[in-house]
Amino acid sequence: MKRILVTGGAGFIGSHLCKKLIAEGHEVLCVDNFFTGRRENIHALLDHKNFELLRHDITFPLYVEVDQIYNLACPASPVHYQFDPVQTTKTSVMGAINMLGLAKRLKISILQASTSEVYGDPAIHPQTEDYWGNVNPIGPRACYDEGKRCAETLFFDYYRQHNLDIKVVRIFNTYGPNMQPNDGRVVSNFIMQALRNEPITIYGNGNQTRSFCYVDDLVDGLYKMMGTEKGFTGPVNLGNPAEFSMLELAELVIQLTGSKSTIQHLPLPQDDPKQRQPDISQAKSKLNWQPNIQLNEGLVKTIEYFKSFRN
Ligand code: NAD
Ligand code: UDP
Ligand code: UDP
Repeated sequence: MKRILVTGGAGFIGSHLCKKLIAEGHEVLCVDNFFTGRRENIHALLDHKNFELLRHDITFPLYVEVDQIYNLACPASPVHYQFDPVQTTKTSVMGAINMLGLAKRLKISILQASTSEVYGDPAIHPQTEDYWGNVNPIGPRACYDEGKRCAETLFFDYYRQHNLDIKVVRIFNTYGPNMQPNDGRVVSNFIMQALRNEPITIYGNGNQTRSFCYVDDLVDGLYKMMGTEKGFTGPVNLGNPAEFSMLELAELVIQLTGSKSTIQHLPLPQDDPKQRQPDISQAKSKLNWQPNIQLNEGLVKTIEYFKSFRN
């Protein structure tokens, strides 16, 4: 049994990770400032003897005693990370420094939730881990993309300079229960709009693509990555390679909800990546991981979850 720190543990992915770690018999210290996280996400864990919750902002130092760190704290939806862009960069950069300092003092493994956004609007397709990316450093998405890129730099410098056991995963678009209904991301928007029979808002012509991974698959990948031997740093892509256009996603959501929604086209946000698909050869060979839940099946479960927010 390990004592495991999960930053961002009250958020969408973090809450599923906390649940899995508890189920595996570990103790979890969940640290969250509740910017986008919610108590409801971890409600079922609050009374568990192996679960502890600490309200804390990781841009400030944190002195606790743990055996492992999963660093997930950072808003992930463009709407939320652009709300206070300076805080977003601080969370990724100062948060990484503090969590790496903690891992260095305790000589423990630390996993960083990086993102496919480090590839920006990618010029190669699908994206492999050796691609350096195409990010606009001064655009509205930069606070997130460059913050995450700098966090990766810090992780690899702590590895080279201090021999820290780091694990870096690049997460591609993930969806499932515990996403906020007003999160602003495409899956939550489309499902809420479909359930309310409101127009489905497609930004631009809807031909841009994303590859969507169900959260249970993703969390399984995080856990497997942490379980790799010391010295295996990644970065490793984690995502579902099945690629869909936003038009296809809208049609699927309408079909699965039996909605009367129509499609409404709105302007495409600046720097919106045109395509995104993970090459998961590394995850397959090094982690023995691949996603099992297809989009149809995952959407059905996610739609069920969002039904309670319909009114
Ligand atoms: P989320 O917004 O639901 O969760 C982020 C959590 O971090 C929230 O609980 C929030 O309150 C907390 N947080 C934010 N700033 C903090 C701070 N300064 N101190 C402490 N807590 C803070 O997002 P998510 O989708 O669960 O994403 C989790 C992680 O995975 C993020 O690091 C994100 O960048 C990464 N990621 C997610 C996706 C995705 O599709 N969901 C894709 C790529 C990467
Ligand atoms: N830190 C922390 N918890 C710890 C140890 C360090 O939050 O248990 C923070 C500390 O505030 C420091 C940062 O991590 O600013 C980086 O630590 P490191 O030891 O790498 O650097 P230094 O303390 O030498 O600046
Ligand atoms: N998008 C859309 N309608 C929405 C929300 C998003 O068409 O209501 C598009 C968005 O422009 C992008 C894709 O869906 O091309 C994925 O957006 P999301 O914010 O979920 O994630 P990210 O852009 O960070 O991959």
